[in-house]
Amino acid sequence: MADWSDRAQPTTLVLFDVDGTLTPARKDISPEMKQILQDLRKKVVVGFVGGSDLSKQKEQLGEDCVNDFDFCFSENGLTAYRKGQQLASQSFIGWIGEEPYKKLANFVLRYIADLDLPKKRGTFIEFRNGMINISPIGRNCTHAERDEYEVYDKQHRIREKFVEALKAEFSDYSLTYSIGGQISFDVFPTGWDKTYCLNHLKNETFTSIHFFGDKTFKGGNDYEIYNHERITGHSVTSPHDTARILKELFLH
Ligand SMILES: [Mg+2]
Repeated sequence: MADWSDRAQPTTLVLFDVDGTLTPARKDISPEMKQILQDLRKKVVVGFVGGSDLSKQKEQLGEDCVNDFDFCFSENGLTAYRKGQQLASQSFIGWIGEEPYKKLANFVLRYIADLDLPKKRGTFIEFRNGMINISPIGRNCTHAERDEYEVYDKQHRIREKFVEALKAEFSDYSLTYSIGGQISFDVFPTGWDKTYCLNHLKNETFTSIHFFGDKTFKGGNDYEIYNHERITGHSVTSPHDTARILKELFLH
């Protein structure tokens, strides 16, 4: 494939996490980083892979990010663009199927109904494109209620026990459970971490794929891809650190 013959190193792909790697956490990309990526794109093929959806990534990386990067992987690659063109997409409900999902949702709602918590609010299951998010208190609690719940959850291990119950009941479902934040946990298909985006690269001819991420420790959302056999991983502490390594490796 002569697809990337306009690059000095057409068989090298460099992938970036977004938050904490290209941008400060939850903030926008700097003009300096944009310039570095433009320079980098003359040398190699450049992409990003993040857990957020594309609208959030457009806010952080710029409205035209699907054209500023060769590959854009939103929701870890469930939504994907190559050279500005959308690739095949995937969803949680498409993967799991209506009947199995109904069983899961019914179990979750019954389990929550039987939980004796000090307070319950609303939105116990949030149905997202690539996962579901389950909250025993309900996601639309107030900030103060959220803090209260966090303390209660720590004392009584509500989420931990909930996840154990789900693992036992749905042991044949191939699901991964991730307890994060204060009030909820995520449920998604096993393997739908950042390595999912590599499925879109099977027909490419890259001989070297670099990945830069800030959460490369075990349990962090860059851990799996950082340690993947096809990947040359770079663990960074900030966008500034990313820029420093890029200059050393590619831009001297
Ligand atoms: Mg990050």
